[in-house]
Amino acid sequence: MIIGVPKEIKNNENRVAVTPAGVIELSKNGHQIYVQSTAGLGSGFADEQYEEAGATILPTIEETYAIAEMIMKVKEPIEPEYKLIKKDQLVFTYFHFASYEPLTKAMMASGAVCLAYETVEKPDRSLPLLVPMSEVAGRMSIQEGAKYLEKPMGGRGILLGGVPGVRPAKVLILGGGVVGTNAAKMAAGMGADVTIMDVSLPRLRYLDDVMPANVNTFMSNEFNIRELIRNHDLIVGAVLIPGAKAPHLITRDMLKEMNPGTVLVDVAVDQGGCIETCRPTTHQDPTYVIDGILHYCVANMPGAVPYTSTLALTNATLPYAIQLANKGWKKACQDNRELLLGLNVINGEIVYEGVAKAFNLPF
Ligand code: NAD
Repeated sequence: MIIGVPKEIKNNENRVAVTPAGVIELSKNGHQIYVQSTAGLGSGFADEQYEEAGATILPTIEETYAIAEMIMKVKEPIEPEYKLIKKDQLVFTYFHFASYEPLTKAMMASGAVCLAYETVEKPDRSLPLLVPMSEVAGRMSIQEGAKYLEKPMGGRGILLGGVPGVRPAKVLILGGGVVGTNAAKMAAGMGADVTIMDVSLPRLRYLDDVMPANVNTFMSNEFNIRELIRNHDLIVGAVLIPGAKAPHLITRDMLKEMNPGTVLVDVAVDQGGCIETCRPTTHQDPTYVIDGILHYCVANMPGAVPYTSTLALTNATLPYAIQLANKGWKKACQDNRELLLGLNVINGEIVYEGVAKAFNLPF
């Protein structure tokens, strides 16, 4: 199969869908890979590395789309890309259709086959192509939180790990899923005093088993949250209720209960945030202060570490890409239900219920 890897054109997107290592694996399976010039540069991969791996470099985005039977991307296509996508072309990328009708309509009009990273689903209902980005965001939440706890950055001026004779910072993590678990590991590793809350008792039991001694588990409810926010220095929001907006576990009135300079990192910002005062920010201007409490609510945290994020994402996408390329999308989806659930649009028809429902379109 002929695979095209265009350069991402969305503002500040430095990830790339295939690395030189991926080119080698796809080539070994008999496929031809065309990479747009400088597509990998933002993630640290030069054109020469792709060529050495066996890819052909194309100078423009138009040529990359025109030649390919399968396009591998990272972000959902944006307006200038709509017209480049051809009938019957397979496009494997994040789409997030339900949140943007013009993209959905454009992909229906294109006649392409759209297989969305975010709806590929394993039998245990986990989302294998979203997990890597949650791992990155969870680990980063502590790195960012530690930075903003520094006084010149607006925080309380507390060192996460403390020093001998001085207590470490207290870190509270709301939600013990992928983001929360990765955040807890990082905070614990830096020596903080960590508490992780969840509504799922089985999840709390699991965390209690695997986490080091400086991580305590706590049932998530309003009473306990009100109690704990009073003396915690860094609070990470990491809850998810699948398919719904995040619940506001920290309401505006609670900010007054916290110590001034407390840092809130709301990773769940992309689902509306689990802190009422959360509003999306960018890497250019990541924080703001309300009632003396510093908020960090960057909606695309992995974008700041494209090298790590690209490798984490492509580690997860490549095995699926190989199946699609080897068998063609129809056979690959027949053989693997995980991929079947990734299909969102086929030749003008919506085939994913959640997307059809979002826009009252036929399903
Ligand atoms: P997950 O499903 O693995 O974990 C969510 C956890 O929240 C579950 O354990 C669930 O039991 C728990 N939960 C639900 N309601 C709760 C409540 N009331 N109190 C405490 N815990 C509760 O999800 P995840 O992969 O960890 O993702 C968490 C959030 O982070 C999602 O909104 C995701 O979209 C977001 N995210 C954001 C970025 C970013 O760059 N900002 C990157 C990746 C993920």
